[in-house]
Amino acid sequence: SKAQGRNICHFFTDAMNLGMSRRLQIEEQLHGALAREEFQLCYQPLINIARRAIIGAEALLRWRNPRLGAVPPDEFIPVAEHTDLIIDIGKHVLSQAIEQVAYWRGALSPDFKVAVNLSPRQFRDTGLASFIEQTLARHGVPGNALELEITEGVLMGGHTHINDALVSLNRMGVHIAMDDFGTGYSSLSYLRSYPFDTLKIDRSFVGDITIDAADRELVNATIAMAHGLGLSVVAEGVETEAQLDYLHSRGCDIAQGYLFGKPVPAEAFNTIFGQPV
Ligand code: C2E
Ligand code: CA
Ligand code: CA
Ligand code: CA
Repeated sequence: SKAQGRNICHFFTDAMNLGMSRRLQIEEQLHGALAREEFQLCYQPLINIARRAIIGAEALLRWRNPRLGAVPPDEFIPVAEHTDLIIDIGKHVLSQAIEQVAYWRGALSPDFKVAVNLSPRQFRDTGLASFIEQTLARHGVPGNALELEITEGVLMGGHTHINDALVSLNRMGVHIAMDDFGTGYSSLSYLRSYPFDTLKIDRSFVGDITIDAADRELVNATIAMAHGLGLSVVAEGVETEAQLDYLHSRGCDIAQGYLFGKPVPAEAFNTIFGQPV
Protein backbone atom coordinates (compact mmCIF):
# COMPACT_ATOMS: atom_id res chain seq x y z
CA SER A 1 0.00 0.00 0.00
CA LYS A 2 0.89 3.68 -0.25
CA ALA A 3 1.29 4.03 3.52
CA GLN A 4 3.65 1.08 3.62
CA GLY A 5 5.70 2.54 0.77
CA ARG A 6 6.02 5.80 2.66
CA ASN A 7 7.17 3.90 5.74
CA ILE A 8 9.78 2.06 3.72
CA CYS A 9 10.95 5.39 2.31
CA HIS A 10 11.20 6.82 5.80
CA PHE A 11 13.05 3.74 6.90
CA PHE A 12 15.66 4.17 4.18
CA THR A 13 16.12 7.93 4.57
CA ASP A 14 16.39 7.56 8.36
CA ALA A 15 18.96 4.84 7.92
CA MET A 16 20.91 7.02 5.51
CA ASN A 17 20.73 10.05 7.78
CA LEU A 18 21.81 7.88 10.64
CA GLY A 19 24.78 6.66 8.62
CA MET A 20 25.77 10.17 7.63
CA SER A 21 25.32 11.65 11.04
CA ARG A 22 27.40 8.89 12.59
CA ARG A 23 30.30 9.72 10.25
CA LEU A 24 29.85 13.40 11.08
CA GLN A 25 29.48 12.71 14.80
CA ILE A 26 32.68 10.72 14.72
CA GLU A 27 34.43 13.59 12.99
CA GLU A 28 33.01 16.12 15.44
CA GLN A 29 33.89 14.06 18.52
CA LEU A 30 37.33 13.17 17.19
CA HIS A 31 38.35 16.83 17.45
CA GLY A 32 39.36 17.24 21.05
CA ALA A 33 39.31 13.50 21.84
CA LEU A 34 43.07 13.63 22.38
CA ALA A 35 42.80 16.58 24.78
CA ARG A 36 39.95 14.84 26.64
CA GLU A 37 42.18 11.76 26.96
CA GLU A 38 39.63 9.44 25.37
CA PHE A 39 42.25 7.24 23.68
CA GLN A 40 43.84 4.18 25.16
CA LEU A 41 46.56 2.05 23.66
CA CYS A 42 46.16 -1.71 23.91
CA TYR A 43 48.86 -4.30 23.27
CA GLN A 44 48.64 -7.75 21.72
CA PRO A 45 51.52 -10.21 22.21
CA LEU A 46 53.83 -11.32 19.39
CA ILE A 47 55.08 -14.88 19.92
CA ASN A 48 58.24 -16.44 18.58
CA ILE A 49 56.80 -19.77 17.40
CA ALA A 50 59.93 -21.94 17.69
CA ARG A 51 60.75 -20.68 21.19
CA ARG A 52 57.14 -20.17 22.34
CA ALA A 53 58.27 -16.88 23.85
CA ILE A 54 56.84 -13.37 23.80
CA ILE A 55 59.16 -11.14 21.82
CA GLY A 56 57.04 -8.02 21.57
CA ALA A 57 53.59 -6.52 21.18
CA GLU A 58 51.52 -4.70 18.57
CA ALA A 59 50.01 -1.43 19.78
CA LEU A 60 46.33 -1.08 18.83
CA LEU A 61 44.39 2.09 19.52
CA ARG A 62 41.05 2.20 21.35
CA TRP A 63 38.69 5.16 21.51
CA ARG A 64 35.90 5.53 24.06
CA ASN A 65 33.73 8.63 23.72
CA PRO A 66 30.95 9.64 26.16
CA ARG A 67 28.46 10.22 23.29
CA LEU A 68 29.48 7.45 20.88
CA GLY A 69 30.71 4.77 23.25
CA ALA A 70 33.52 2.52 22.07
CA VAL A 71 34.28 3.26 18.41
CA PRO A 72 36.38 0.58 16.67
CA PRO A 73 39.59 1.71 14.91
CA ASP A 74 38.34 0.48 11.54
CA GLU A 75 35.67 3.16 11.91
CA PHE A 76 37.55 6.14 13.36
CA ILE A 77 41.03 5.74 11.82
CA PRO A 78 39.75 6.47 8.27
CA VAL A 79 38.00 9.61 9.60
CA ALA A 80 41.15 10.68 11.45
CA GLU A 81 43.11 10.05 8.25
CA HIS A 82 40.71 12.08 6.15
CA THR A 83 40.72 15.08 8.53
CA ASP A 84 44.48 15.07 9.23
CA LEU A 85 43.73 14.50 12.92
CA ILE A 86 45.77 11.31 12.42
CA ILE A 87 48.97 13.38 12.55
CA ASP A 88 48.52 14.32 16.22
CA ILE A 89 46.84 11.04 17.16
CA GLY A 90 49.66 9.14 15.46
CA LYS A 91 52.33 11.10 17.34
CA HIS A 92 50.52 10.36 20.59
CA VAL A 93 50.46 6.63 19.74
CA LEU A 94 54.17 6.63 18.84
CA SER A 95 55.14 8.47 22.07
CA GLN A 96 53.07 6.16 24.26
CA ALA A 97 54.28 2.97 22.56
CA ILE A 98 57.94 4.03 22.70
CA GLU A 99 57.63 4.96 26.38
CA GLN A 100 56.03 1.56 27.01
CA VAL A 101 58.71 -0.41 25.17
CA ALA A 102 61.38 1.42 27.18
CA TYR A 103 59.71 0.04 30.31
CA TRP A 104 59.32 -3.48 28.87
CA ARG A 105 62.98 -3.61 27.80
CA GLY A 106 63.84 -3.15 31.45
CA ALA A 107 61.09 -5.27 33.01
CA LEU A 108 60.54 -8.13 30.52
CA SER A 109 63.39 -8.60 28.06
CA PRO A 110 66.23 -6.40 26.70
CA ASP A 111 65.19 -7.03 23.10
CA PHE A 112 61.43 -6.62 23.47
CA LYS A 113 59.91 -4.65 20.61
CA VAL A 114 56.72 -2.77 19.95
CA ALA A 115 54.92 -2.62 16.60
CA VAL A 116 53.00 0.53 15.69
CA ASN A 117 50.57 0.99 12.79
CA LEU A 118 51.14 4.02 10.57
CA SER A 119 48.63 5.54 8.17
CA PRO A 120 49.51 6.87 4.72
CA ARG A 121 48.89 10.49 5.79
CA GLN A 122 51.46 10.18 8.61
CA PHE A 123 54.09 9.07 6.13
CA ARG A 124 53.49 12.09 3.96
CA ASP A 125 54.47 14.28 6.95
CA THR A 126 58.12 15.11 6.24
CA GLY A 127 58.84 15.44 9.97
CA LEU A 128 57.95 11.81 10.78
CA ALA A 129 61.45 10.30 10.81
CA SER A 130 62.92 13.05 13.00
CA PHE A 131 59.93 12.91 15.37
CA ILE A 132 60.57 9.18 15.83
CA GLU A 133 64.32 9.72 16.25
CA GLN A 134 63.74 12.35 18.97
CA THR A 135 61.14 10.25 20.76
CA LEU A 136 63.42 7.19 20.80
CA ALA A 137 66.28 9.33 22.14
CA ARG A 138 64.06 10.90 24.82
CA HIS A 139 63.24 7.44 26.19
CA GLY A 140 66.73 6.06 25.64
CA VAL A 141 65.64 3.17 23.42
CA PRO A 142 67.42 2.05 20.23
CA GLY A 143 65.61 2.01 16.89
CA ASN A 144 65.33 -1.77 16.87
CA ALA A 145 62.81 -1.54 19.74
CA LEU A 146 60.30 -0.21 17.20
CA GLU A 147 58.63 -1.78 14.18
CA LEU A 148 56.41 0.32 11.94
CA GLU A 149 53.55 -1.55 10.25
CA ILE A 150 52.50 -0.10 6.94
CA THR A 151 50.07 -1.27 4.28
CA GLU A 152 50.63 -0.78 0.59
CA GLY A 153 48.41 2.32 0.81
CA VAL A 154 51.41 4.13 2.30
CA LEU A 155 53.52 3.36 -0.75
CA MET A 156 50.93 4.07 -3.43
CA GLY A 157 51.84 7.14 -5.41
CA GLY A 158 55.54 6.47 -4.88
CA HIS A 159 56.57 9.83 -3.37
CA THR A 160 60.36 9.99 -3.15
CA HIS A 161 60.33 11.36 0.39
CA ILE A 162 58.43 8.29 1.62
CA ASN A 163 61.35 6.22 0.42
CA ASP A 164 63.73 8.74 2.05
CA ALA A 165 61.82 8.42 5.34
CA LEU A 166 61.91 4.61 5.18
CA VAL A 167 65.63 4.64 4.43
CA SER A 168 66.47 7.00 7.32
CA LEU A 169 64.24 5.04 9.72
CA ASN A 170 66.01 1.88 8.56
CA ARG A 171 69.36 3.52 9.30
CA MET A 172 68.15 4.19 12.87
CA GLY A 173 67.52 0.44 13.16
CA VAL A 174 63.72 0.84 13.09
CA HIS A 175 62.09 -2.18 11.46
CA ILE A 176 59.48 -1.87 8.72
CA ALA A 177 56.70 -4.45 8.35
CA MET A 178 54.33 -4.90 5.45
CA ASP A 179 50.93 -5.32 7.07
CA ASP A 180 47.90 -7.21 5.69
CA PHE A 181 50.05 -8.99 3.12
CA GLY A 182 48.01 -10.61 0.37
CA THR A 183 45.00 -8.29 0.53
CA GLY A 184 46.30 -5.57 -1.80
CA TYR A 185 47.16 -5.41 -5.47
CA SER A 186 50.84 -4.53 -5.66
CA SER A 187 52.43 -5.93 -2.52
CA LEU A 188 55.03 -7.86 -4.54
CA SER A 189 56.39 -4.84 -6.38
CA TYR A 190 56.57 -2.89 -3.10
CA LEU A 191 58.49 -5.71 -1.44
CA ARG A 192 61.06 -5.37 -4.19
CA SER A 193 61.39 -1.59 -3.94
CA TYR A 194 61.36 -0.79 -0.22
CA PRO A 195 63.50 -1.85 2.74
CA PHE A 196 61.10 -4.22 4.55
CA ASP A 197 62.20 -6.41 7.46
CA THR A 198 58.96 -8.22 8.19
CA LEU A 199 55.94 -9.52 6.32
CA LYS A 200 52.61 -9.95 8.12
CA ILE A 201 50.31 -12.51 6.52
CA ASP A 202 46.75 -11.21 6.70
CA ARG A 203 44.47 -13.15 9.00
CA SER A 204 42.07 -13.90 6.15
CA PHE A 205 44.68 -16.42 4.88
CA VAL A 206 45.34 -17.92 8.30
CA GLY A 207 41.80 -18.64 9.48
CA ASP A 208 41.23 -21.68 7.25
CA ILE A 209 44.76 -23.12 6.88
CA THR A 210 43.79 -26.34 8.61
CA ILE A 211 40.79 -26.96 6.32
CA ASP A 212 41.45 -25.12 3.05
CA ALA A 213 44.21 -26.52 0.78
CA ALA A 214 44.38 -23.37 -1.35
CA ASP A 215 44.92 -21.10 1.67
CA ARG A 216 47.62 -23.50 2.82
CA GLU A 217 49.45 -23.24 -0.50
CA LEU A 218 49.26 -19.46 -0.43
CA VAL A 219 50.65 -19.36 3.10
CA ASN A 220 53.42 -21.86 2.22
CA ALA A 221 54.44 -19.83 -0.82
CA THR A 222 54.34 -16.55 1.12
CA ILE A 223 56.57 -17.90 3.90
CA ALA A 224 59.05 -19.36 1.39
CA MET A 225 59.15 -16.14 -0.62
CA ALA A 226 59.57 -13.93 2.46
CA HIS A 227 62.38 -16.09 3.78
CA GLY A 228 64.01 -16.03 0.35
CA LEU A 229 64.01 -12.24 0.60
CA GLY A 230 65.44 -12.37 4.12
CA LEU A 231 62.21 -11.19 5.78
CA SER A 232 60.79 -12.47 9.00
CA VAL A 233 57.17 -13.70 8.82
CA VAL A 234 54.32 -12.95 11.22
CA ALA A 235 51.02 -14.83 10.93
CA GLU A 236 48.06 -12.74 12.10
CA GLY A 237 44.82 -14.06 13.54
CA VAL A 238 46.17 -17.33 15.01
CA GLU A 239 43.28 -18.68 17.07
CA THR A 240 43.94 -22.43 17.44
CA GLU A 241 46.77 -24.80 18.35
CA ALA A 242 46.18 -26.62 15.04
CA GLN A 243 46.86 -23.40 13.09
CA LEU A 244 49.96 -22.77 15.21
CA ASP A 245 51.26 -26.32 14.63
CA TYR A 246 50.82 -25.94 10.90
CA LEU A 247 52.59 -22.56 10.83
CA HIS A 248 55.39 -24.03 12.95
CA SER A 249 55.80 -26.93 10.50
CA ARG A 250 56.23 -24.39 7.66
CA GLY A 251 58.84 -22.36 9.52
CA CYS A 252 56.70 -19.28 10.15
CA ASP A 253 58.64 -17.11 12.63
CA ILE A 254 56.07 -15.22 14.70
CA ALA A 255 52.41 -15.68 15.60
CA GLN A 256 49.82 -13.17 16.77
CA GLY A 257 46.21 -13.84 17.65
CA TYR A 258 43.55 -14.67 20.19
CA LEU A 259 45.25 -18.03 20.93
CA PHE A 260 47.83 -16.04 22.89
CA GLY A 261 45.77 -13.03 23.83
CA LYS A 262 43.51 -10.21 22.72
CA PRO A 263 44.81 -6.63 22.76
CA VAL A 264 44.77 -5.34 26.37
CA PRO A 265 45.98 -2.19 28.16
CA ALA A 266 49.62 -2.18 29.31
CA GLU A 267 48.77 -2.88 32.97
CA ALA A 268 46.77 -5.98 32.06
CA PHE A 269 49.49 -7.04 29.62
CA ASN A 270 52.02 -6.91 32.47
CA THR A 271 49.78 -9.01 34.70
CA ILE A 272 49.11 -11.65 32.04
CA PHE A 273 52.48 -11.77 30.30
CA GLY A 274 54.81 -10.72 33.10
CA GLN A 275 56.33 -14.22 32.92
CA PRO A 276 57.39 -16.26 29.88
CA VAL A 277 54.54 -18.06 28.03
P1 C2E B 1 45.60 -4.50 11.91
O1 C2E B 1 46.83 -3.66 11.96
O2 C2E B 1 45.56 -5.55 10.86
O3 C2E B 1 45.45 -5.13 13.37
C1 C2E B 1 45.06 -6.45 13.63
C2 C2E B 1 43.60 -6.51 13.98
O4 C2E B 1 43.23 -7.88 14.11
C3 C2E B 1 43.26 -5.85 15.31
O5 C2E B 1 41.96 -5.28 15.20
C4 C2E B 1 43.25 -7.05 16.25
O6 C2E B 1 42.48 -6.83 17.42
C5 C2E B 1 42.64 -8.11 15.38
N1 C2E B 1 43.02 -9.47 15.80
C6 C2E B 1 44.17 -9.86 16.39
N2 C2E B 1 44.19 -11.19 16.61
C7 C2E B 1 43.02 -11.67 16.13
C8 C2E B 1 42.44 -13.00 16.06
O7 C2E B 1 43.02 -14.00 16.48
N3 C2E B 1 41.21 -13.09 15.49
C9 C2E B 1 40.54 -12.01 15.00
N4 C2E B 1 39.33 -12.21 14.47
N5 C2E B 1 41.05 -10.75 15.05
C10 C2E B 1 42.28 -10.59 15.60
P2 C2E B 1 41.65 -3.81 15.76
O8 C2E B 1 42.40 -3.59 17.04
O9 C2E B 1 40.17 -3.64 15.75
O10 C2E B 1 42.29 -2.86 14.67
C11 C2E B 1 41.79 -2.78 13.37
C12 C2E B 1 42.69 -1.98 12.48
O11 C2E B 1 42.72 -0.59 12.87
C13 C2E B 1 44.14 -2.43 12.53
O12 C2E B 1 44.28 -3.58 11.73
C14 C2E B 1 44.84 -1.20 11.99
O13 C2E B 1 44.79 -1.17 10.59
C15 C2E B 1 43.97 -0.07 12.53
N6 C2E B 1 44.61 0.52 13.73
C16 C2E B 1 44.52 0.14 15.03
N7 C2E B 1 45.27 0.93 15.82
C17 C2E B 1 45.87 1.85 15.00
C18 C2E B 1 46.78 2.95 15.20
O14 C2E B 1 47.25 3.25 16.31
N8 C2E B 1 47.14 3.66 14.09
C19 C2E B 1 46.69 3.35 12.84
N9 C2E B 1 47.10 4.09 11.80
N10 C2E B 1 45.85 2.33 12.60
C20 C2E B 1 45.45 1.57 13.67
CA1 CA C 1 48.92 -4.00 12.09
CA1 CA D 1 47.13 -6.61 9.75
CA1 CA E 1 39.52 -19.61 2.52
